[in-house]
Amino acid sequence: MRQSELNNLKTYLLDRKKAILDNNSIHKQTMEHIQNNHINEADYAAMQIRNALDSSISQRHLLELEYIEQALEKIEKDIYGICEMCDEEIGIQRLKAKPHAKYCIVCRKIIEKDSKEKDQK
Ligand SMILES: [Zn+2]
Repeated sequence: MRQSELNNLKTYLLDRKKAILDNNSIHKQTMEHIQNNHINEADYAAMQIRNALDSSISQRHLLELEYIEQALEKIEKDIYGICEMCDEEIGIQRLKAKPHAKYCIVCRKIIEKDSKEKDQK
């Protein structure tokens, strides 16, 4: 991988990390604002639904944040872009699409297939 490509991906990862953290802090402020103000029951019901949606989004963000942290750590250790399963290079095209990818496309498919089969059992 070229140094310029690595730098681009690192910048992307850092931006993405910041965006998730900013997003979550805005979300927290909004929730505190709502909690500090009197709300009627209809609002409360609507909020419950929104909460359920928001919490699934935050969960996804938290997971993504974890992957981003791991990817950044790998950049520091100079092992970024190597598949965790087969030790082959993940490939720049795949990393551009998904910079926090842990596996190459071949291993990713094996893992997905495995988890689908487990679900069916
Ligand atoms: Zn692999």
